[in-house]
Amino acid sequence: MHDSLYFTDHHLQVRDMVRDFAQQVVKPSAPQYDHDSAFPWDNVRRMADLGLFGIPWPEELGGSGMDYLSYILVIHELAKVDASHAITVSAHTTLGTSPIVDFGTDEQKKRFVPLLAAGKVLGGFGLTEPGAGSDAGGTQTFAVDKGDHFVLNGSKIFITHAGVGEIFVVAARTDPAAKRTHGITAFIVTKDTTDLEQAKRVGVGHDASLPKCPGVLAAKKEDKLGWRASDTRELVFQDALVPKENVLGALHNGFRQFLHTLDGGRVGLGALSLGIAEGALEECLRYTGTRKQFGRPIASFQGVHFALADMATEIEAAKHLVYHAAWLKQHGQPFKREAAMAKRRSSRLNLLQPPQPPQPFVTVFPDSGPGTQSGPPAPRSPCSSVCRPRVPPSSRSRSAPAASPPARPGASP
Ligand SMILES: Cc1cc2nc3c(=O)[nH]c(=O)nc-3n(C[C@H](O)[C@H](O)[C@H](O)COP(=O)(O)OP(=O)(O)OC[C@H]3O[C@@H](n4cnc5c(N)ncnc54)[C@H](O)[C@@H]3O)c2cc1C
Repeated sequence: MHDSLYFTDHHLQVRDMVRDFAQQVVKPSAPQYDHDSAFPWDNVRRMADLGLFGIPWPEELGGSGMDYLSYILVIHELAKVDASHAITVSAHTTLGTSPIVDFGTDEQKKRFVPLLAAGKVLGGFGLTEPGAGSDAGGTQTFAVDKGDHFVLNGSKIFITHAGVGEIFVVAARTDPAAKRTHGITAFIVTKDTTDLEQAKRVGVGHDASLPKCPGVLAAKKEDKLGWRASDTRELVFQDALVPKENVLGALHNGFRQFLHTLDGGRVGLGALSLGIAEGALEECLRYTGTRKQFGRPIASFQGVHFALADMATEIEAAKHLVYHAAWLKQHGQPFKREAAMAKRRSSRLNLLQPPQPPQPFVTVFPDSGPGTQSGPPAPRSPCSSVCRPRVPPSSRSRSAPAASPPARPGASP
């Protein structure tokens, strides 16, 4: 894709800056964090210093005052090197912060967004439950009105930053009599990070002055196949006390807000999947150029060329879809359909997504060591692909039953 299609000089400067950070800082350290399943606090501190946690938000809310394309470029570049770092920025920004920017009162925005945009604390989003995955209308976390506060009970699973984060936007059912997707409300809940020592050491990740909601707890961390440096856990509400001023948007209208947030999330996850695939292609090109068999680099065999050409072509197509969707969103145009397409196509660049896509390394080396190693030269890409969250969920559904007719242009995928 030619840069001039979507990017200004400023975008290219942002891309160069993040590319440099990803290569110099993330690339050398990511394998160890991934191996240890450790949250990359030191790198998070550096990302906060670079302003990567508030890219698209206005400066008056503590953001970097950049645009949406800049934000997508950052996710794309980080994912080329490490998916965990990319999802940390993406989940924090799109899922944790954007609902407050989009639906919060002035008071809520002033209270929460500057902390999130500066990366002073990390944010997250709690929608998924054991019985409510693609079908978020199945939410079984309940919130009971107690006058000046609500009491929440229930649990959310697979929540990015549930341990390390301090501010979350979560869904809870406030009207048990209402039909499935009605009667759900969005709440802003707060808790202390589980990594208090680390947060204090690096100087980000905890704000002692932020009032916390008693009864909001992080449970055991998931032991994932990939994205191991990303913090994924259960978020539990045990008679959690949430002040009424933390209701986000209109009561009983949370489901619509979540669908809106997930539309933006699809563009980000498209960029993330694209980055993973592009990083893997770069490794494939490097490896096939240096690995010699039969006295010559394996890149000189035409069968290997075919696989690499397929990968490059699929990646190029996905790149157009992702940046077109991002451009539409940035220009206030309808982008729901394009976001779904971008995510669908990009996620199929990766592993285990039928019909058979070009699969980094596994395609090129179906029966050789590199396709199965956990370390270089295939840097975590197959596992990154397996573990890609479907937040927003499946390309096929969030609320549509399998038997639904195909989505109309502009309808929810
Ligand atoms: C690493 C990671 C991080 C995550 N982070 C978050 C987070 O921060 N916040 C959050 O709320 N959630 C998060 N999730 C959860 C994610 O959103 C869910 O996994 C997703 O919504 C799918 O739900 P499920 O896993 O229950 O799958 P299910 O809904 O049980 O789906 C199982 C399979 O059935 C298919 N399927 C379901 N319904 C249909 C249908 N109508 N038509 C056709 N096929 C269908 C799905 O595509 C899928 O292949 C995360 C998940 C992971 C893996």
